[in-house]
Amino acid sequence: MSLFRPAIDRTAAYVPGEQPQESGWVKLNTNENPYPPSPRVADAIAAATSRLNIYPDPLGTSFRKAAAGLFGLDADWILPANGSDENLTILLRAFIDPGDVVLSPYPSYILYETLAGLQDGRYERLVLNPDWSWDFDAIAARVANAKLVFVPNPNSPSGNRWSDEDLLKLLPPHGILVVDEAYGDFCDQPHRMELLHRPEGKRIVVTRTLSKSYSLAGLRLGFAVAHPELIAGMRKIKESYNCDGLALAGGEAAILDQAWMLENRRKVLATRARLTSRLREAGFHVVDSQANFVWATHPAGGHKAIYESLKSNRVLVRYMRFPGALAGKTGDESIVDGLRITVGTDPQVDRFLEVLASRSA
Ligand code: PMP
Repeated sequence: MSLFRPAIDRTAAYVPGEQPQESGWVKLNTNENPYPPSPRVADAIAAATSRLNIYPDPLGTSFRKAAAGLFGLDADWILPANGSDENLTILLRAFIDPGDVVLSPYPSYILYETLAGLQDGRYERLVLNPDWSWDFDAIAARVANAKLVFVPNPNSPSGNRWSDEDLLKLLPPHGILVVDEAYGDFCDQPHRMELLHRPEGKRIVVTRTLSKSYSLAGLRLGFAVAHPELIAGMRKIKESYNCDGLALAGGEAAILDQAWMLENRRKVLATRARLTSRLREAGFHVVDSQANFVWATHPAGGHKAIYESLKSNRVLVRYMRFPGALAGKTGDESIVDGLRITVGTDPQVDRFLEVLASRSA
């Protein structure tokens, strides 16, 4: 007999993307930035090593000020965390009692479903239309009943972005909307926290990460942005020292070097356009992406085999499969599958395209 809480036994473990630890891979599978972080990050971390014997600032105030400064806010609007994933866990623990309804779009980031299950919430999918839009009439009643709605914007795996007006329709009247902006910096016009200044803004939380646009996936640092009352409640849940001193110092240096981040972003956006058009020329359907990855499907299918042959050539992309999604016309329930390809450097993308072309030759 299991000694775990039933919710733990019932919930399937989240499986992160493959992380080969040896070199030699063209790694386009977990949406990392292919460019290194600002050199100021290493300098700040080196300086912070002189304080390794003492605990870090539990609130990370210096980092919070830098993050808040990006949006003209005060530091008490910011909650740093050990990656965005930790903030998602904190949100579940903050707002979900057993049986409370948690919603997120589907296909989307599967971790929401896992975290809701572990917390004994009642997770339900909001199945997206085949063109990644919402059928608001179909979901309105369920949103009205929800306690917590998670929406990645841009969405993963598709890379599309929804308007603020669409997002507001997903705000539960007696609950919280979490807009997960892990990829927000890669939008043509990044969100500037405008949603938080609306009258409804006191029930909206935006999550950001330094894993993607700031090239710091290995450091583990993210932050939530929300009204100070929400941040104060969430802060009760976090561990006292949830962010280590090296991460806080490195993350602050990264945020303060906006020119570095923006130059990497410019390169990623240019390569995204090239990757999109080359895949379309090769017969793939590619969603217009506002993120640092693209979602590609081929009318002939065979996505798993394409993933495997790329992998055998040391090119790693993400094969994803979503049972119960809407594959074709609305109402046609079946399995959606495809390839999510991270935008790498130009040479990495060239290698990917070369292996892809050699398959069909
Ligand atoms: N949200 C989404 C939509 C993501 O794709 C990811 C990355 N897997 C995260 C959050 C988590 O990011 P972090 O590295 O900050 O935990």
